[in-house]
Formats: sequence, C-alpha cells, structure tokens
Amino acid sequence: MGAGRVHRAGRHGLAAEHPRPAAPRRLGLGADGIDTLVGCELEFTLFDADGTMGGPWSAYGLGPVLADAGSGFLRDLATLAETTGLPLDQAHAEYGTRQFEISLGPTDPLTAADNVVLARILIGRAAERHGFRPSFSPLSSTEANAANGAHQHFSFTRDGASLFSGGTGPHGIRPEGGAAIAGLLRRLPEFIGFHAGSLLSGARLLPGHWSGAHACWGLENREAAVRFCAATAGNPHGASVELKVVDASANPYLSIAAMLWAAHEGIRDELALPVEVTGDPAALPAGAAVPLLPNEQSEVLAVLGASTAAVDFAGEDIMTALLAVRGHEVEVYGAASAAALAERFRFTWSM
Ligand code: GLU
Ligand code: MG
Repeated sequence: MGAGRVHRAGRHGLAAEHPRPAAPRRLGLGADGIDTLVGCELEFTLFDADGTMGGPWSAYGLGPVLADAGSGFLRDLATLAETTGLPLDQAHAEYGTRQFEISLGPTDPLTAADNVVLARILIGRAAERHGFRPSFSPLSSTEANAANGAHQHFSFTRDGASLFSGGTGPHGIRPEGGAAIAGLLRRLPEFIGFHAGSLLSGARLLPGHWSGAHACWGLENREAAVRFCAATAGNPHGASVELKVVDASANPYLSIAAMLWAAHEGIRDELALPVEVTGDPAALPAGAAVPLLPNEQSEVLAVLGASTAAVDFAGEDIMTALLAVRGHEVEVYGAASAAALAERFRFTWSM
C-alpha cells in the first residue's frame, strides 16, 4: 500500500484501493499573517402559517418590533440566541412588509458560517412558537415589496492593525486592504454563482434594490456590490467590507470561503484599489458606466463553469457537483415565472 492510500474491503470482499481524502484546503490568510473576522446579516420575511403576509409596516420603525408580529418572536429569538451562544448583535424591521433583519457579530470564518445555519434554525423555532414561518428566499413573494439578502462582512488585521483603517488611502484603507477589495471585485463576475445561489437570485440582484447589483465599491453605498463600512462610532467592531450580493440560497461555507479567497488573491497579486463609486452607479454618465453583475442563472453558471479561478479555489469535485445540481435546476425550473418560482421555493432555505 502506497503512502496516502487506504485499503477498504470491496463489494466482493476484495481489498480495493481508494485515495485518501485530500487534506482540507487552507485559505492561507493566516499563513500570510492576516487575521480574519467574518459576520453575516440575514434578512427574512415572516409569513402567517396559512401562507399570507400582510399588515401595517413601518420600515426601520419601532412599531413592527413592538407590535404582535415582532415583539414575542424577537424576544424568543433573543433568548434562544443567548442560550445557544449565537452572537446576535442587532435585530430590526427592514423595509419590506413583515421583513426583519438580524446582524451577527464577527467571528472566525468557519464559525460565521455555522452561525448562519444556527440563526436560521433559531429563527424558525422562534417564529413557529408565534404561528409564523420565516422565508429567507431571495424573492419570498412577487407581492412582497422587498427581497431578502444575506450580506457578509469581513475584516482583516495584520499584527493587530486593521487593513481597512488607519492608512493613507480613501477612508483610511491601507494598500493591502485596497488590494483585498480589488481582488474581491476582480473575481465577482465569475464568482457570483457562489454568492447568489438560485434561479430566484436573479430577481433580487437588480439595480435599485440595494442588493449591490453593480460591480464596484463605495463607502456606505447600497447599490455597490462591495459596500465599505468605515471605522466610525456607528461601527463598534471597526471597519469592514460588506459583500452585498449574497443571498440565503447560497451555501454560506462556500460563499464566505470564495469571498475570502478572492480578497486574499488580490493581496497576493498586490492589486490597486479601484476608483470608488459614490452615489447611485446607475446615475453615472455613459462613459463612466459601471457594469452590472450577471444575474441570469444560465449566464451565471456559464461564467462560473469557465472560471479557472473557481477550480483553483474550490477544486474539481465541488465544481462538478455544484454545476450539475445548479444546471439541473435551470433545466427543470428555468422556464417558470417569477411568481411560480417564489411560491415553489418560498421555504426552501428555512429550517
Ligand atoms: N433587502 C436588500 C437586499 O436584498 C438589502 C437592504 C439593505 O440594504 O439592508 O439585499
Ligand atoms: Mg438590510
């Protein structure tokens, strides 16, 4: 038996040789002296058990949080979070009817992905106690006036100093921080399939929806795929980079890892921070137009399937499986209307 191979009894009792599973791929940021923190946000819509969803709503208001739809549910969610150690930093009423958002505090990347899964379970349990069902779907209903995002924030530090504050670049961004943003943006058109994981993602990833449909970055810019959050009193965890294009139909483990891989690649290649886009990119003159990210699922999969960077990041096995499953979804559901898809997949990402 050669090194790195294991013998197992075959179906007919013969010893078959199988390659030992490859060692887990390391992101390599730590090996390069960079410490990483990741924290995610989750938006969701509460439906009544009978599938309806309505009532008065005040976006970002206190009313929904104190009213029946919110108060008992949010109190139970906070208790469950405390019991399970989920770092629930904030909960608020979003702008869509019956839409809430929670923000999870920063942790190491793997725990951040675990926390997304735990949060979805706890939201499901708390909602159930109050007769609701949460939908995390990018488009929970064509009647709902808002889509659900699952934005991901990350921050990098080297020797305790943030790469995104204290420097001489825009908003204090240091050269390595700028390279990380550049790397993230460079791979975004081909990696969008890792972050926007379903046919419904395209109905969310549209200009004017605060989903970051434009391939650019900007300070607190909700139309930019990469929204920069500077170190201010309003950001108690310090400066972070927010990837807005992510929705809950993505695999959080893959999406977080792809985001960090692309940022790290930008640092390794010493890329320069691209020009910042302030304001709505859709309002820029034609000469300065910012491209939109692919949002049509066949195109998303075509660019992902042609990406050698995706194979370098995820490996052949993951890419083959991912493209097969997602291609099947396009084949089976590709011709369905947005309304039919919203209904069919409303609770697919609920637990
Ligand atoms: N609901 C928006 C989305 O789909 C995000 C709104 C916000 O900026 O928080 O991503
Ligand atoms: Mg939000």
